[in-house]
Amino acid sequence: MLGPSVFKKLLLASCVLALPAVTSVALADPVEQTKGRFEDKFRQLEGEEWPTPTDYRNAAGEPGYRYWQQKVDYRIKASLNEATRTLTATQTVTYKNNSPDTLRYLWLMLDQNNYKRDSIAQLTDTVSSSKEISVGEVRRVKRMQVWEGGFNDLKVTAADGSALAFTLNDTLMRIDLAQPLKSGESLTFTVSWSVPLPETKVVGGRSGYECFTKPGEDGNCIFLGAQWFPRLAVYSDYEGWHNKAFIGSGEFTLEFGDYEVELTVPADHIVSATGELLNPGEVLTAAQQKRYIEARTASSPVYVVTPDEAAAAEKSKATGTKTWKFRADNVRDFAFGSSRKFIWDAMGVKNADPAHPTVMAMSFFPKEARPLWDAYSTKSIAHTLNVYGKFAFAYPYPTAQSVNGPVGGMEYPMITFNGPRPVKDKKTGELTYTERAKYGLIGVVIHEIGHIWFPMTVNSDERQWTWMDEGINSFLQFQAEKEWDKDYPTRRGEPKSMVEYMLSENQVPIMTNSESIPQFGNNAYGKPAAALTILRETVLGREKFDFAFKEYSRRWQFKRPTPYDFFRTMEEASGTDLDWFWRGWFYSTDHVDIELADVKKARLNTRDPVVEKAWEKVQDDAQPDSLTAARNTGKTVVETDPATVDYYNTDDKWEPTVKEKKKYADLQKDIDPDLKEALAVKDNFYNFTFRNKGGLVMPVILKMDYTDGTSETVRIPAEVWRYNPAQVTWQHATLKTLKQAVIDPLWETADADVSNNAFPRKIDEQRFEVREGEDGPNRMKDDELVVTPDSLKTQPKKADKK
Ligand SMILES: [Zn+2]
Repeated sequence: MLGPSVFKKLLLASCVLALPAVTSVALADPVEQTKGRFEDKFRQLEGEEWPTPTDYRNAAGEPGYRYWQQKVDYRIKASLNEATRTLTATQTVTYKNNSPDTLRYLWLMLDQNNYKRDSIAQLTDTVSSSKEISVGEVRRVKRMQVWEGGFNDLKVTAADGSALAFTLNDTLMRIDLAQPLKSGESLTFTVSWSVPLPETKVVGGRSGYECFTKPGEDGNCIFLGAQWFPRLAVYSDYEGWHNKAFIGSGEFTLEFGDYEVELTVPADHIVSATGELLNPGEVLTAAQQKRYIEARTASSPVYVVTPDEAAAAEKSKATGTKTWKFRADNVRDFAFGSSRKFIWDAMGVKNADPAHPTVMAMSFFPKEARPLWDAYSTKSIAHTLNVYGKFAFAYPYPTAQSVNGPVGGMEYPMITFNGPRPVKDKKTGELTYTERAKYGLIGVVIHEIGHIWFPMTVNSDERQWTWMDEGINSFLQFQAEKEWDKDYPTRRGEPKSMVEYMLSENQVPIMTNSESIPQFGNNAYGKPAAALTILRETVLGREKFDFAFKEYSRRWQFKRPTPYDFFRTMEEASGTDLDWFWRGWFYSTDHVDIELADVKKARLNTRDPVVEKAWEKVQDDAQPDSLTAARNTGKTVVETDPATVDYYNTDDKWEPTVKEKKKYADLQKDIDPDLKEALAVKDNFYNFTFRNKGGLVMPVILKMDYTDGTSETVRIPAEVWRYNPAQVTWQHATLKTLKQAVIDPLWETADADVSNNAFPRKIDEQRFEVREGEDGPNRMKDDELVVTPDSLKTQPKKADKK
């Protein structure tokens, strides 16, 4: 899903961003420090926060030798009733029990039931302000009084046609089996149902319809089918049946399987869907089929359905229907878009997966999305395939689609919904687009197509750990944006972009359940993306990070990883203990603020009185003399009475004594060779004191500028903090003379306060805004006193009668 932005309100309408008071909870700590104040930020997570490895997922973070997952195949026949905006379907499900367990019942996810009036989602909807309500919120409240979503006419039958009992529990449904389903066995059953589609821009959500029925519009609608049919819940080795209801934020996780879907829609509709179209001859004209074939080898997008054809279709409504047939193998869900408004462009993209050497990148959009979509949607898909293919694995499917409709940004296998559109110029009435809309579209297409890797192929559980798909995907989106344009106005991924959030009180650790995160976008998208950038650029370096990340992607392609599998793989494959990093960034709300608190310079004492006395004199001369003595104007006793002057008044105390010179000469006669060598060292020894004010232990990148004009940067690993995570002193010896030093000069660690990074400190350059039209403060006005022109008397202003 696209992160919080202008679209957030629409997407999360059932999850209004009320901000609960943050309470801190002391966690039971298996290791207790009772003497002194020391916190071991490098303590291992194994055996404490992380689960014990099993035969199903091993200690290296790989699928274990007995790894299993269920397989669920679907054959769905669905029809869209444009007039009633309802979907009706019959689906035959084949469930293969690959687990070692016997199952007596199956759980299904009925996500559309979160639109039922008595659902957890609707009943727990809270508001963020008691002072105001938006027009959108008023519309939603009024709509929900008259409209109710959710599945109707549910019927479940066994393969022999007998009815199967089922029980609804919010967005979940349990089917009780006539016979227990043993390990290795398969079961086929049928579910029939109907569901009213929500008007997405009114009630929110990830599916539904949008109609262009305002004055001057063509009166047609776009329909999006998402989370639209009863889908088998996950049964896994680490959690058994997934039983988290759909409340609105946590997206979903499902089983992989093969889909054959027949969608019956008005005859003049164009359909985009998960998978490959099996019957182009039945639904497209000969010219459209010919252009589709041309697009496979084209170097820029080709219209399969042209703007003119879409404009013609908008003028009337067909009375008949057509059935579009799709097939999708090894996917974890199925979604579609359908409209007579759709323009369709396509372009073949070369791909490294031998099973899919050419991927069809395709976009479906109404005229209202032009000319932005013609220019950027399909090209953004192609760019994503290249960049993500490089970081993870080659795109594993035959098609990659981007559909414009009422959903701001959402992903499903092979198909994504993306919202940005141009705006109408108020003067000319022409459609034009802002820079924000342009980069908004490119960014959201990269993001949503990127999700086809994470989590549509690397099947993490979004309903539990949003960061596993949104965070990892936002990190890769950042990479793809910077490969689109070095100056791309990226929103997430740069470490410095997370500073403000990491300082805020209103936050929870990244490892918090998806439904309980107050600042969703920062927590699940921005912070993990910044953390991974730091892990790549600063902690591990690109070579080790890229190898480990690719290994994680490879290991868990078409499988189901947990956070611990990610953490373990990144450590194992990079050969680096990163527990301190996960603890700080994923398990805590600490921020980064490392201060270069002090720098001291020292030379070794040569023990040569000639050298050392001279040095002492320089130090002494640098100090001011007694102010009192200097200000006294009269003559002193020793000035007026020569008899009071003796040896101590005339001796130069900076001149070495005979005794001191002899002691040094004696040392030279019988000196230990190691000591002699040490005393000859001419290096300057610099002691740098680093103070950790934010709590997060991080590498310290120290840049030293010398008086000879040269510079040196030392990248000190985070382990520098292992004895004391609050303050450490680190030494550097050099023949050069230090002029100034700065830590994190490139702002790569998300350091929250860079003003304490330099030594000596730098003056903070600012601008004062000049306020216009007001004099200085008027005391009488401030006090609200009333004065009369003829009197010096003042009196308090009378209270307003209102
Ligand atoms: Zn997303």
